[in-house]
Amino acid sequence: MSHNNTSLNTLDKTHFLHPFTDFKEYKATDTAIYTKAEHIYIYDEAGKELIDGMSGLWCCNLGYSQPKINEAISNQLNSLPFYNSFFQCTTDVTVKMAKALVDISPAQFNHVFFTNSGSEANDTNIRLVHRYYDLLGKPSKKIFISRHGAYHGSTIAAGSLGGFSGMHKQYTGLSYVEHIGQPNWFTEGGDMDKAEFGIKVAQELAAKIDELGEENVAAFIAEPIQGAGGVIVPPETYWPEISRICKERDILLISDEVICGFGRTGDWFGAQTFGFEPDLMTFAKAVTNGYQPLGGVLVSDKVADVLSADGGEFTHGFTYSGHPAACAAGIATIDILKNDKVIENAAADIMPYFQAQLRTLESHPIVGEVRGMGMVAALEIAKNNSAKERLAPDCAGGAMVKTHAINHGLMVRSVGDAIVTAPPMVCNREEIDLLIARLTIALDYTA
Ligand code: PLP
Repeated sequence: MSHNNTSLNTLDKTHFLHPFTDFKEYKATDTAIYTKAEHIYIYDEAGKELIDGMSGLWCCNLGYSQPKINEAISNQLNSLPFYNSFFQCTTDVTVKMAKALVDISPAQFNHVFFTNSGSEANDTNIRLVHRYYDLLGKPSKKIFISRHGAYHGSTIAAGSLGGFSGMHKQYTGLSYVEHIGQPNWFTEGGDMDKAEFGIKVAQELAAKIDELGEENVAAFIAEPIQGAGGVIVPPETYWPEISRICKERDILLISDEVICGFGRTGDWFGAQTFGFEPDLMTFAKAVTNGYQPLGGVLVSDKVADVLSADGGEFTHGFTYSGHPAACAAGIATIDILKNDKVIENAAADIMPYFQAQLRTLESHPIVGEVRGMGMVAALEIAKNNSAKERLAPDCAGGAMVKTHAINHGLMVRSVGDAIVTAPPMVCNREEIDLLIARLTIALDYTA
């Protein structure tokens, strides 16, 4: 980590309260301050280069050098830097972005509600779903069911939907959110057959609905692959069973696509990869390739038709819902993904290559498991290649590897004992080889 720019470091420590940070511990360490990025590389203030194995924060699926997106933002700022979408008006690009999103989404989605972030989009889901059931004359249907370890954002509502106990401890969450288990084969599978395990975990949803009463449950929300919780890829049987239960019990199904959307799993949306049909989809991050803040909810006809059938204002929205500069970035991002066939090409070549190369690390002495799909993966760090035994009882294995990886030019994230990586889809094979080589050095140093 660079020590060069002490003044920036001092200013940072003095004035900037970073998100998800231990403020006391943080003051005692240097801040990594990045000043430049190109393609898949980020550069700190001293010029040190790192491969960005996290695409920003699961955002820059197309990497950092996309002049068409920059140009679209800049043109938009020059023609109409801002106008709002309240009170019967909007901007041309906002409407065009809604259409662009609908065009790439599964057939049931013909409507979009814009927000600035994934957190606000998940808050919006709660408002939309409650209004939907109120209008249907089912006002008791208020409870949301989510999963332990899920991340759905950090506003009080989105944080309540999420399953991070550390967050829940710091505030009083919503009273109408319940959690069930996640299909984590590594920690929970035991001797069970994977397919059988997928069904078993999905049936926790049915049991929870029965316990709460179907008449009180509104929706189930989940990420197709749980990302921030450690890249938990469900068994193939999981999503079909979840989908069946939601349909059978009149529960809306929400796919949080904030990480999986826009190509990460090899399709436009994770729900398509896993073959299920949600009623609502949350998006953010890669929708603009991370270049502008934009989020939202894709709303199916089933829900939108009810919302628009009766009169009465939907009393929800944000000043920057559908911000023109963000929508211009989104349109340019979708254009590149579509015109250059980025997702299809990546799914045919770089994604399987990335997954196969990562799996060569399964034989490394401190790797207990490699899991992943498309352009997202996790390595479980464990003792003596045994997936069940922690590397060191008091220290998260992932954190140890992460420090060495950063020191050796690779940005990854740690989640407990796991190391998580989600590089841009525009990597070539040589760059994946370099990523694996740097990760291997980090593993060797940790072992
Ligand atoms: N949903 C998922 C699946 C996420 O991973 C995130 C952020 O990481 C969010 C929602 C929240 O998005 P934001 O940070 O834009 O509020």
